[in-house]
Amino acid sequence: MEMQLESILLPGVDAQRPVVIAGPCSAETEEQVMETAKDLANKGIKIFRAGIWKPRTKPGGFEGVGVEGLAWLKRVQKETGMYVSTEVATKDHVFEALKAGVDILWIGARTSANPFAVQEIADALKGVDIPVLIKNPVNPDLELWIGAIQRIYNAGIRRIGVIHRGFSSYDKKMYRNSPLWHIPIELRRRIPNMPIFCDPSHIGGKRELVAPLCQQAMDLSFDGLIVESHCNPDCAWSDASQQVTPDVLDYVLNLLVIRDSTQTTENLSELRRQIDCIDEQLLELLAKRMRISREIGIYKKEHNMPILQSPRYSEILEKRSNMGEQMDLNTEFVKEILKNIHEESVRQQMIIMNE
Ligand code: PEP
Ligand code: MN
Repeated sequence: MEMQLESILLPGVDAQRPVVIAGPCSAETEEQVMETAKDLANKGIKIFRAGIWKPRTKPGGFEGVGVEGLAWLKRVQKETGMYVSTEVATKDHVFEALKAGVDILWIGARTSANPFAVQEIADALKGVDIPVLIKNPVNPDLELWIGAIQRIYNAGIRRIGVIHRGFSSYDKKMYRNSPLWHIPIELRRRIPNMPIFCDPSHIGGKRELVAPLCQQAMDLSFDGLIVESHCNPDCAWSDASQQVTPDVLDYVLNLLVIRDSTQTTENLSELRRQIDCIDEQLLELLAKRMRISREIGIYKKEHNMPILQSPRYSEILEKRSNMGEQMDLNTEFVKEILKNIHEESVRQQMIIMNE
């Protein structure tokens, strides 16, 4: 997808990876905001985050301090020199944030899932030049995410970035929001020049996961990180378990290994050539398999047999995944591939049946 994007980097923010945005989940009090901001600025953080309006899953939680907190962000700009960012979910939020001179806006995950809300924000941003970061929608729907990006782009905003914050699921195990890395990776393929930030705090939901998630994001060539950091995390009014102190954040960032993505050695090129060959062979084999499938389809049609013979399918799944296991292939992976191949075979045979 062609998008004429401009750099989201603000004067004084280095173009090096990762660009870091940090600050508390919510602005709670002027003291908490100032203390956290000063500690972060001392660690070299250039962009501050704080939620002023908080979308809560259930009523009764802390819903943010509202407009009052914008004055604290102004103080942060003035006293620390940091840029400030906050979440907007309605046109009123946009007007208030712009009036207060907020430097970067972000659209939260619940909002990007709602095209009406995103359009309202986009309309409020017409004619404004400000960087806007768009979080992935709560549900794993890449098209919805891209749709939100397009709405903001169509409003004339050119400094756009996205934030990968994971996807909610009924069954929560290790993560608060499953990372489903293939979704931001596919977004990168579709819009190659779009800067991608990772939000390890909302993916992980717990402090211990912040460091490994930051590293994974860097290994996947993400451009930036947005991390929740609070001067006293245990006492935070929202998302306490996932926030880290500015000290811990600094420690985590210093330990990150940033691998240079443009450098490819001769060895790597050779290995990639082998992969290219194997992919070609895989495709040829798949094409051959489909041709045979179609012949089977013709046979079934001539002999009035149904397409689906589930004992045969179960037998294939069983046999092949055992075979795969002996070759050190993950059973789930093998089953998933076979399922997809089988679905395509059935689809091809249906075409023959209906001819
Ligand atoms: C947040 O950044 O504090 C927040 C509410 O995040 P999300 O929209 O990703 O849930
Ligand atoms: Mn939060």
